[in-house]
Amino acid sequence: MSAPKTSRKKAIVVGAGAVGASSAAYLQRDGFDVTMFDPDGMGRGCGEGTVGIFATNIIAPASSEGGVKAMLAAAKSDKLDTLMVNKPHLPDFLPWLASFVSASGPQTFEAGKKVLQEAQSLAVSTVRDIMGGAAFDAHAEERGWMFAYESEEAFQAAQGDRDLRKRHGVVLEEIGEAEIRELEPDLPSIFKRATLFPRAYHTADVRKMVSAIGDVALRGGATLQQRAVDAVQCLSDGSFSVTAGGETFAADVVVIAAGPHSSKFADDLGSPIPHSAERGYGVTFPKAAIKLNRPVTFTKQKMVAAPMAAGLHLISTGEFAPLETAPDYRHTDNLTAAGSSIFAGLNTEGASRWSGWRSTVTDGLPVIGESPRHKGLMFAFGHSHLGLTLAGLSGSLISALAMGRKPVMDVAPFRVDRFSLVPKV
Ligand SMILES: Cc1cc2nc3c(=O)[nH]c(=O)nc-3n(C[C@H](O)[C@H](O)[C@H](O)COP(=O)(O)OP(=O)(O)OC[C@H]3O[C@@H](n4cnc5c(N)ncnc54)[C@H](O)[C@@H]3O)c2cc1C
Repeated sequence: MSAPKTSRKKAIVVGAGAVGASSAAYLQRDGFDVTMFDPDGMGRGCGEGTVGIFATNIIAPASSEGGVKAMLAAAKSDKLDTLMVNKPHLPDFLPWLASFVSASGPQTFEAGKKVLQEAQSLAVSTVRDIMGGAAFDAHAEERGWMFAYESEEAFQAAQGDRDLRKRHGVVLEEIGEAEIRELEPDLPSIFKRATLFPRAYHTADVRKMVSAIGDVALRGGATLQQRAVDAVQCLSDGSFSVTAGGETFAADVVVIAAGPHSSKFADDLGSPIPHSAERGYGVTFPKAAIKLNRPVTFTKQKMVAAPMAAGLHLISTGEFAPLETAPDYRHTDNLTAAGSSIFAGLNTEGASRWSGWRSTVTDGLPVIGESPRHKGLMFAFGHSHLGLTLAGLSGSLISALAMGRKPVMDVAPFRVDRFSLVPKV
């Protein structure tokens, strides 16, 4: 039951994607009077076109030795590829690149792995906590995630990755052709070996699931304003004035959870962070006539396929570019071509293409925490490839910080001021 409005502190959550909806739900449950703002409504952000995985195995931050090599090669190359840097934007991107290289040092990389492992171990329990077990089970299932290889050599070349994951407690199974056929009868026989991560959960409808998380907040009395926040102002009495569509709204707590649009607010509010927008692409085949039982990564093609409510969905690409850059749908053409070469019978009729922006910080960790300059100003963005996975944890941490309660994990690695950048204000 919700508390009387008059006695409650007001919280404004900027953005109602997976992270904003979850933050709103936790804050509302903790007794705040919450208003979410999002021009696109609930659950429409980048999450809408994702493959719906609650990952357990993405523990190595991209800022590794290999990641740096790949990123530097992408920065030099003009080729249409699954990792790209927008060339006209390269001079502006160089500080991000420099920070990415410096985050790849062994200490930062080691620390990042432990943090990502712990965070992913709390991913499902925190979403369950806020939705309720039965509601969670209605949206997501522990189907596992398969990484498929076309040769024994390619599988062996990934042994180092598997060992690293095992050392960090990730549960995995190394399987051969017969088990692949048994688990995924529609996968063609080109796949000889696979790694199965059995603990991964999957939702077939990300928008529906994120909306259900947001509905927890709405049922508790929160409201959703379908408009963009233009500015957040910190007032001398410690409260906030939020401007949206020419109107101002008062708040005691403000959460910036606007995905890649968040860094502009962080800059304006004195907490710059080395952040870039990173575009991904997807294509959905509603009449695919291919049935997968779980998400499958095709390691050679660097592409993921997943069985979604709307059809078979293929995704790939990290394109580092400014938010105003137009999508290059040659990437979805490539996805369709790669999908058709894997699945001989893929029916591409009625296919729909999609692109969406991730929000990526150079050390591969999200920003989840309170501004060191303004008490009550919270940041929750930069989740990169793990925003659905870490949405519940982010909401739980944000609300604990707003309440002054001990969070479920140490928030120090996620601090907004972990990089020593000079504030622009
Ligand atoms: C191809 C692809 C596949 C992916 N697959 C997965 C996956 O399987 N599992 C996983 O964990 N992650 C996945 N991700 C990553 C995941 O989608 C993101 O990390 C996640 O969407 C981030 O959630 P968010 O709520 O922080 O941001 P977003 O989803 O970007 O939502 C931000 C919201 O803020 C709103 N907003 C922006 N500006 C304003 C403003 N001024 N005022 C108010 N609102 C504003 C936007 O409208 C938007 O709704 C994938 C990403 C891509 C690109």
